Amino acid sequence: MYKEVDVIIKPRFIDEYKDGYPLISKESILNWDKISEEGTIINLLDNKKKFIAKGYHGIQNKGFGWVLTNTKNQKIDTEYFKARIKDAIEYRKDFYEDDSTTAFRVFNGEGDRVGGLTIDYFDGFYLLTWYSLGIYQFKDEILEALKSQVEYKGIYQKRRFDTKGKYLEGENDFISGDEAPTPLIVKENNENFAIYLDDGPMVGVFLDQREVRKMIRDKYAKDKTVLNTFSYTGAFSVFAACGGAVKTTSVDLANRSRAKTKEQFEINNIKAEEQEIIVQDVFDYFNIAVKKGFKFDMVVVDPPSFARSKKRTFSVAKDYVKLLKEIIQITNKDGIIVASTNCANFGMVTFRDFIAKAFKESNKKYKIEESFSLPKDFKVIDEFRESSYLKVVFIKKLS
Ligand code: SAH
Repeated sequence: MYKEVDVIIKPRFIDEYKDGYPLISKESILNWDKISEEGTIINLLDNKKKFIAKGYHGIQNKGFGWVLTNTKNQKIDTEYFKARIKDAIEYRKDFYEDDSTTAFRVFNGEGDRVGGLTIDYFDGFYLLTWYSLGIYQFKDEILEALKSQVEYKGIYQKRRFDTKGKYLEGENDFISGDEAPTPLIVKENNENFAIYLDDGPMVGVFLDQREVRKMIRDKYAKDKTVLNTFSYTGAFSVFAACGGAVKTTSVDLANRSRAKTKEQFEINNIKAEEQEIIVQDVFDYFNIAVKKGFKFDMVVVDPPSFARSKKRTFSVAKDYVKLLKEIIQITNKDGIIVASTNCANFGMVTFRDFIAKAFKESNKKYKIEESFSLPKDFKVIDEFRESSYLKVVFIKKLS
């Protein structure tokens, strides 16, 4: 059995937890010293010792644990996780039924009421991502629960926490069933993506940008020259090319991005040699592009929130305006800038302020065509809007 500990919530935090706020913070608890091991079940009580909520202790950069239920006698066992996963699958019914897309998120952490765990679906294979040692303590129950609710070809995992070697012995990313082909080819709105379930922390495609890629393909790419910056495996470039772009240019610092991008083109029957793939720091690329007078009809920019290269550190919160100003210079009049960020530290209002500032300082006019946040499968609950991290804005450069 798991250790279960009662703790007292500080008065000013009681209402928050009563209203369903899911993230447990250290500073909201009076006697946190009672909790030590990750995976401990925590009963949150008010100052009169009345039960408010039950959660678990797990250390993530977001906080120190997650509320799992507001029912006092609820056991956190296989049955509990079964019910959560069942609800999550029901909510994604449309995705399971849609043959044109075979990669989506089945379980989105606190959005599906279990913070610290996500489950993604890749054409019959399931990938569990554990975000703390705390949630990883429930691995057996969660796996059993998942297996009881789905038919699967195979199950994989990623551990996104500091394992210190202790829990890794004899384990790898493959857990159960059959191993996936390498690459595993999945479909997204009828295009193909190569996915690697057992090749480092990332699988090759960020599923949360699905709607943005579709929009680029269906409405914006035709007959356009497209620059994709921070291009990773070139997923945006693939959709632009499939939508009839004249040519795509993908720029990423990572050496591996060249072969990965080439592969994504090829599995979609796009001739990679007709596209441009550049391995370079985007800021160096901008310097060259400005000097040589390169201009594009569409520029996609979706940087990591933080990045450190040999030459510089980049932070979205600090440097996005600068980044946009560079892009404005190399975008044609009436061209489209797809500005994206997954930085959770600021919201859409601040992001639009960045855009306004960049255009003002560039002395140019613009119009916002549309904006996107997370797609339906990346479920977010109203009590915790903070987890709605994605912001994407399609901007038309008017002058
Ligand atoms: N936009 C991509 C995901 C970007 S992931 C997509 O939707 O698929 C972030 C990428 O930025 C990584 O591939 C990383 O190699 C790259 N990167 C980080 N700093 C960079 C820099 N200064 N110049 C170019 N690429 C950079």
